[in-house]
Amino acid sequence: MSDLLLRDALIPGADSPADLLVRDGVVAATGRGAAADGVPAEDLGGKLLLPGFVDAHAHVDKTLWGGPWVPHTAAPGLAAKIRNGVERRAELGLPSADHITALLGQMIVSGTTHVRTHVDVDTVMGLAAVEAVREALARLDGRITAELVAFPQAGLLTRPGTAELMGRALAAGVELVGGIDPAGLENDPVEHLDVVFGLAEEHGSGVDIHLHDGGALGAWQFELIIDRALAASARVNISHGFALGEAPQPVQDRLVARLAEAGVTLTTVAPSSAPSLPLAALREAGVAVGAGNDGVRDLWSPYGTGDMLERALFLAQRARFVRDEEIGIALEAATTGGARVTGRRAGYAPGDPGDFVVVAARTPAEAVCVRPVRSLVVKAGRVVARDGHLV
Ligand SMILES: [Zn+2]
Repeated sequence: MSDLLLRDALIPGADSPADLLVRDGVVAATGRGAAADGVPAEDLGGKLLLPGFVDAHAHVDKTLWGGPWVPHTAAPGLAAKIRNGVERRAELGLPSADHITALLGQMIVSGTTHVRTHVDVDTVMGLAAVEAVREALARLDGRITAELVAFPQAGLLTRPGTAELMGRALAAGVELVGGIDPAGLENDPVEHLDVVFGLAEEHGSGVDIHLHDGGALGAWQFELIIDRALAASARVNISHGFALGEAPQPVQDRLVARLAEAGVTLTTVAPSSAPSLPLAALREAGVAVGAGNDGVRDLWSPYGTGDMLERALFLAQRARFVRDEEIGIALEAATTGGARVTGRRAGYAPGDPGDFVVVAARTPAEAVCVRPVRSLVVKAGRVVARDGHLV
């Protein structure tokens, strides 16, 4: 935990630059001429100071980042991608702490200071991916923080033994329990959710469920998950939730209201293949929405750079946002929205984490549209990247 004075920083919405003082890793004061004898200082020259980006939906354990280019070989469809990933990962040396370290490093220089990553747990690999992610985080020595989701990518009910492995991961400190398409993939939503919420209850974990199922089947699973969330103490997030974006208006209105009532959060990766979530309605209702890069350059997809400004751009374009305030909503998902999803604070008030990214822009909308090299990335008051390079 470090001390740092950020001088001449433009805070979004402010008329003129100010100084921001971080002490012991958290914001201590904001204002002109914040007194800070002996504290290291950075002069930002009036550049925009944004909260550190939160990547709220990643799969860093799967990445091939930093290695040779691997052409995509999976057939279309979720089941084929799962099968291809399981079949090919060993030949490519996955999971690899080297690749994960390389990707997390790229995320850091792009301004990400916290990541929620789903990590595969299955009966072939056991907890090897959890260990690889932990190893990579140790190598990066606090430059980024992470929370892990024990994720049954290859199936939970359909792969006996997976639930026990997930329990072991949670007992060993993994923060959240994952789930995946309780109906569409697992064909038994009640039993799937029994297992997921049972593990969460037993280990005091959060819950984060991948829900790709669309249409009425997906909307029904929203209802099931919300019912569980209302009855449980766990923090609950639904990832993707394509069904919400395509639901008829009355169904969408009802689900948005129920998500707000239950405190269930959402994460989106803004794929080009699915309708946008109703971001403005969710914001109006107070439902936290985070954004994430999903898999980056892996056996599932050759795309991605780990850059949350790029993800905010995709989110804004998918939602057909053009006005500054709309593009600002997209950037919120990459900053304060992701922070809310992950139970963290973000901002410029005393007590907020000293996690920041500095870009040569005048407004959040300009930052998203131009995506300048990140001049400075600060984690808990420590400069961790400068001009696109790790420090
Ligand atoms: Zn995912």
